[in-house]
This record gives sequence, structure tokens and C-alpha cells, in this order.
Amino acid sequence: MKVLITGGAGFIGSHLAEHYLAHNDEVFVIDDLSTGSIENIRPLKAHKRFSYFLDSVENRQVTAELVDECDVVFHLAAAVGVRLIVESPVRTIETNVRATELILNLAAKKKKRVLVTSTSEVYGKRTQMPFQEDDDLLMGPSSKGRWSYACSKALDEFLALAYWKEKRVPTTVVRLFNTVGPRQTGRYGMVVPNFVRQALKQEDITVYGDGTQRRCFLHVADAVRALTQLMAKSQAVGEVYNIGNTEEITIQDLAEKVRAMTGSASRIVKIPYKEAYEEGFEDMLRRVPDTSKLHALTGFVPRYTLEDTLKDVISHLRTAAADQATIASDESTLVQEVKGDWQIAAVI
Ligand code: UDP
Repeated sequence: MKVLITGGAGFIGSHLAEHYLAHNDEVFVIDDLSTGSIENIRPLKAHKRFSYFLDSVENRQVTAELVDECDVVFHLAAAVGVRLIVESPVRTIETNVRATELILNLAAKKKKRVLVTSTSEVYGKRTQMPFQEDDDLLMGPSSKGRWSYACSKALDEFLALAYWKEKRVPTTVVRLFNTVGPRQTGRYGMVVPNFVRQALKQEDITVYGDGTQRRCFLHVADAVRALTQLMAKSQAVGEVYNIGNTEEITIQDLAEKVRAMTGSASRIVKIPYKEAYEEGFEDMLRRVPDTSKLHALTGFVPRYTLEDTLKDVISHLRTAAADQATIASDESTLVQEVKGDWQIAAVI
């Protein structure tokens, strides 16, 4: 099978690419490296069944070729991370809506199977847990930047389902809840890599708000398993699925766990939301998925506990820190290579 992964140099996309390569499929990745990284796909580059294009999904010509070439499309390319969303709302809205519209439009020609990744953010301020796929979505006001992400993703969902209903493009929508694991960067505010990096550097661990907010964290390997299982099921077409873990932890407890597991002497400090993000920032107190729909179709249950997941992240970031000096000295070579890759991409 030929698999196209938009955003394939990202955290989840690169794990997904690895999965399909390991199962003898051919993988095509398109990524503009805006939030993804060449490092994530570096080990895959030598693979005969792997091709990648350093380009924006919005480059219609390139994306059209790729959609035509492939049997299935995982559309992961998106502006993600709360910090990025608060800081660059225009980019968030435009990237998320335009890219999805283009992918669906191109997929419609030959009715290609498309999986569109959405987010648990679309549930917004709902307080009844757990969140079910058919629940009402409760957005905040448009004056608060955070909600632009949820809203742009909700529009992606409507589009994907409309393309199925009206044009018979076989689409599936997934709502990813907090997903963590090796290669996730803390650059865009994600809590687990942030805390682990802070703990390893003996810096203050920054808990935003009062730390009583809770989240459920799914290991990226579990997320990849759910994504691939859904792609393989024709019954998933025209449907929306939550993908997440149901084991909850408060952010304060998470900070303590990370500190204990890393053996760090870091202090845990509380930072008001207005300093961490912006004035009037609204956080979600809880966010728990109901995954019974996913389970009923695929039998999916997470294999990794939070401890397993944190262990993997800690070990990944420890190695990355040790490699940092080498990476820095390799930086000029990397720039050269990226330029070379770009030329290859343009020729293909
Ligand atoms: N958070 C935190 N410290 C950080 C980064 C995030 O306390 O350094 C909090 C954030 O305010 C939220 C939770 O951790 O309540 C999860 O944040 P993340 O951005 O990882 O995902 P979200 O669930 O907000 O999409």
C-alpha cells in the first residue's frame, strides 16, 4: 500500500511513517518543517520505500501528485500547540482550514481514503465527562485566541464528513487527546516534554494555573495503533472517533511524578495563566475521552501506562541532551543536507 502522511516529519507523523515502513508499505511524507523536524525522519531517509517532500501541503501541484500516487492519506499537517495558537492565530486558522480543504478536494477526484486528524480541543469547555463523539461542542468566544484552534478543527471535521456525504470521499475523523512520547517537542508548550526537559536541566518545573487541572496522556505508539486500525476499517468511513487514554492525572501530580522519576532537584513553581499564555486565557479543567466507539470497532485498549510513557520520554530527552553537542557541531552539514533534499523533492 502507498501511504501519504501530511505532516509526516512531525511527532505523530514520523511514528506513523515508521509503522508503515515496518509493515512493508511505501510511505510518502509532505512537511514544511514549520513544527516538524528533519531529525524526526532522519533515520527513515535511507529507506527505499520512503520519500519525503519538504513543502507546504498548500503547494497544490506537489500535493496533487502525491494524493494521486497514494492509496490512503493521513492528514496530520496542522498548526498545533496552544502556545503557537495563542501567538499565531492567523497561521493557525489559515493552515488548518486551507490544507484540509485542499486535501479533501484532491482526494475527491479518485475517491481516496482520507483520515483527518482533529483534536479533543473541539469539545471546548464542556464539563460533563467523559467526552463522547456525539456530544455538543462548547466553544469559547472568538475574542479569545485559544478557541480559534478548536473552531478551525471543527470546520475540518465538518468538511471531512461533508465530503463523504456529498461526494462519497471515504473520510474518517479522529479526535486526538493529549498524545505524548519520544520526539514531541516542548517548544509549542506541550506539558510533558516541557516538564521532563526542565527536570533534567534542574530548572524550575512550571505548573500553569493552580495545577488542579487534569489530563489523560496516551503514548504515541498507542495512538499510531489506533490510527492504523481505523484506516483499515471500512466501517470507520463517515465516522468520528476519540483516540486517547482514560487514566487521569492532575498537572501538579504530573510535575511531582516527573521530578521523582528523573531524580531531579527542580522546584515546582506555579505560573499564572496570564503570564504563561495571555490575559484572559481559558484552560480546560478536565478532558477525558470516551473511547468505547473506538474499542467497539477495533478492540483498541492502550498498552502503555503513564509511567511507561514518561520513562520513554525521559530516556529520549536524556539521549537527546547528550547528543546536543554533536548536533550543534553538525548544524552546518544539516543545512546543506536540507537544501539537497529540497532539490531532490523539486525534481521528483
Ligand atoms: N501546562 C503546564 N506547564 C507547562 C505546559 C503546560 O502547567 O509548561 C499545562 C497547561 O496549562 C494545561 C496542561 O498542562 O493545563 C496540558 O497542556 P498541553 O499544552 O500539553 O496540552 P493541552 O491539554 O492544553 O492541549
